[in-house]
Amino acid sequence: MTDQNDLLFERARAVIPGGVNSPVRAFKAVGGTPRFIQRAQGAYFWDANDQRYIDYIGSWGPMILGHGHPAVVEAVQKAVLEGFSYGAPTEREIELAEAILALVPSMEMVRLVSSGTEAAMSALRLARGATGRKTIVKFEGCYHGHADALLVKAGSGLATFGNPTSAGVPPEVVQHTLVLEYNNLQQLEEAFALHSKDIACLMIEAIAGNMNFVRATPAFAKRCRELCTQHGALLIFDEVMTGFRVGLHGAQGVLGITPDLTVLGKVIGGGMPLAAFGGPRAIMEQLAPLGPVYQAGTLSGNPVATACGLATLKEISKPGFYEALAKKTRTLVDGLKAAAAAEGQPFNADSEGGMFGFFLMNELPQNYATVMTTDNAQFNALFHGLLDRGVYIAPALYEAGFVSAAHSEDDIAATIAAARDIFSKR
Ligand SMILES: *Cc1c(COP(=O)(O)O)cnc(C)c1O
Repeated sequence: MTDQNDLLFERARAVIPGGVNSPVRAFKAVGGTPRFIQRAQGAYFWDANDQRYIDYIGSWGPMILGHGHPAVVEAVQKAVLEGFSYGAPTEREIELAEAILALVPSMEMVRLVSSGTEAAMSALRLARGATGRKTIVKFEGCYHGHADALLVKAGSGLATFGNPTSAGVPPEVVQHTLVLEYNNLQQLEEAFALHSKDIACLMIEAIAGNMNFVRATPAFAKRCRELCTQHGALLIFDEVMTGFRVGLHGAQGVLGITPDLTVLGKVIGGGMPLAAFGGPRAIMEQLAPLGPVYQAGTLSGNPVATACGLATLKEISKPGFYEALAKKTRTLVDGLKAAAAAEGQPFNADSEGGMFGFFLMNELPQNYATVMTTDNAQFNALFHGLLDRGVYIAPALYEAGFVSAAHSEDDIAATIAAARDIFSKR
């Protein structure tokens, strides 16, 4: 039988660079042919061969209700009939803004945009505009979208300015970006001591989901807050992944820390292109058309996307939603740990809400460098073993995993059994 995924990949590569519109989808890290998805329902999607997979990426987070939730589908269908886009304000944008602010108390005002990249980039500009400072602090392994100033890795020394991680980004463009090691208190202290009056903001994934799953320690997160306050810098929590994913109030709710600005995306669009950034009124009013910081978007606050986001937020706000999701995710993580232990496979895993990560090592890593010591070949064997058994996890070891409300106990049990089978055959 011809493999339809192979045929589609060949066709795609002729017209789209690498055959994909976002690099991780190409399976470059794990090898093999990417699965071209035809349709999805609940916890599953089906590829071009009509092969079913239990989906643990959920569009990289947004599909927290599972695919095709009836209330969301209904809201989107209704919105589509009323028009796709107007380029003029709508009541639904106010409703979504109100819903977001009600759930994230650190935000008094919010601006809606279309992607996490756009939201993080705009928050950065706002922080620089509001403080009148240039320097930004970020951490190795945290991803904040692909804006030029954020595509940067640590330089050679401690607390030095970084080097671009992409061609097309001149070193001058990242000369104001300091890249520090995640959870390294000493580097953090040093950076603020050296650059005190220049730091506009510190941007962090307080529970990082772009170096697999790594938590900021409570002491580290607290020190980020204290140092920003002390030195007049803004603390920006990039919650594009964690917002409405690790809990109803995001990583800031889990850690009990109030950032100045919050960046949201993924879940707030429920699978449609929608993201946001927000914070205190006095800072947000620096944005155009009120203030001097320019920011705009033709499709921002799109009526179909806001309908999808609103319907999603309504479902996840129901009592007990996160308790049930967190319990299910824990069951998966604990089951995988037990399966690995039973087969003598070095392994550890962690989760918060509906987000999880696992590591083919006994320790839970504290930073990017440790995550990247994972044995690539072992991870790839596990990835392909799971794929062959109808379980789709992220095709790269530095990505987190996602469980949805639609995953059943049977799905979780089947996933654990598949992993154990693979561990037993090593
Ligand atoms: C996904 C992600 C982004 C980028 O969002 P896009 O919608 O892909 O542009 C930014 N920050 C974090 C933490 C993310 O996980």
